[in-house]
Amino acid sequence: MSKQGHTRAVKGMKDILPTESHLWLKVEALCQEIFSRRGYRQIRMPILESTSLFSRSIGAETDIVSKEMYTFDDRNGDSVTLRPEGTASCVRAGIENGLFYNQQQRLWYTGPMFRYERPQKGRYRQFHQVGVECYGWSTPDIEAEVLGMCKQLFSVLGLENTMLYINSLGDSASRAQYRTALVEYLSQHKSQLDDDSVRRLDTNPLRILDSKNADVQALLENAPNILDFLSEESKQHFTDLQRYLTALGVEFSINPKLVRGLDYYNDTVFEWINHDYGAQSTVCGGGRYDGMVEQLGGQATPAFGFGMGMERLIEMLQEQDAQSMQAEQQAQVFVVSVGDEARLQALTLQQALTDSGVVVQCHMGAGSMKNQFKRADKSGAIVGLIIGEDEAKEHQASIKILSRDHAHALAQSEQQTIAQLDVVNVVTNLLDSL
Ligand code: ATP
Ligand code: MG
Repeated sequence: MSKQGHTRAVKGMKDILPTESHLWLKVEALCQEIFSRRGYRQIRMPILESTSLFSRSIGAETDIVSKEMYTFDDRNGDSVTLRPEGTASCVRAGIENGLFYNQQQRLWYTGPMFRYERPQKGRYRQFHQVGVECYGWSTPDIEAEVLGMCKQLFSVLGLENTMLYINSLGDSASRAQYRTALVEYLSQHKSQLDDDSVRRLDTNPLRILDSKNADVQALLENAPNILDFLSEESKQHFTDLQRYLTALGVEFSINPKLVRGLDYYNDTVFEWINHDYGAQSTVCGGGRYDGMVEQLGGQATPAFGFGMGMERLIEMLQEQDAQSMQAEQQAQVFVVSVGDEARLQALTLQQALTDSGVVVQCHMGAGSMKNQFKRADKSGAIVGLIIGEDEAKEHQASIKILSRDHAHALAQSEQQTIAQLDVVNVVTNLLDSL
């Protein structure tokens, strides 16, 4: 509680205010548009899942499962968790509802995720992802399709400086061989490893590859390269993906140290990074996870997908071009009214005009004519509709051009009185003519 005694939001969780929410709506609408052009359909999963879902899929040794989950017992004593990511829920929902049974699926979702992390720029405890998941294709063509959609999204948003990094983790046999080679190499130089990396040597050695520690990174310069361990099949898969991306005009760099935080990936993994943004610069990450459906009890189904961080994306948009971010819909008409009967008529006109797609602000509550005109000017509306007591009696409205830019739009006088029945026609014609 603050000094004043009001309750504040939980640490790391933030409100998305009207000054920002229009950007969220814009990005979500764009995602829907871009994804549905290729037949992706939305799925909505619950926010709360059984805890075992995440320990079985994400991996017990990952940061997420070992220290970041919001887990608690419900009133029945069952352990439940606020989802830290969407993929496991999506797989569970697919198995439970028979979506993978002799079918292929292109799915997308959006919603809040929860991780108990240290809050900072681009890192929150409640954050939002847009996710895409594809089930039933083991070939790299589907990967190129998905990465092509990401590229389209970034281009339309003007985030051209978002770079794609790809890698291949191979199949589980070659990854096991690589893990052995890496552990052998790093064990010979154990004194140069930080505590975190020493611990990971036993639990999750591949994660050492994306250590932020400079000494560890220097040591990794001469470490074995995962790409040298790929099977012929994985090599071909990775080469084909690169060929498709090049044909699509999707630029990429290969980063053999890119392993991603979750245990479940195989073959292709990728990240989109915006280097203009600062430390939390990864805006989107994903890859292939062919083993997960079976791992969670379904029939073996190849899978590929990504999660994109909405907060980071929105902040990148704001930083890049604050001016061009149009605010919410500008009012086109402002209705001034005085007296109870006039107010009732004003509300009726607002209903009719908005039915026709016009953006209308109606003065509410008390307020003198003068005060209401001030608000009308401030609103930025082009047209003012005035219903005083006289107009109300005659079921009329006076119409006035508020914006100086359009002062010429009404021919003779600066104000005309018309029948309320004609208002929708007159106003829509007037707005069309401007
Ligand atoms: P990071 O390395 O930044 O912690 P991650 O590998 O944990 O990311 P993923 O689990 O792959 O992230 O999630 C996909 C995307 O979701 C990330 O690329 C990022 O944009 C976003 N994201 C992840 N964690 C957070 C968070 N705590 N707050 C805001 N966005 C997040
Ligand atoms: Mg993380």
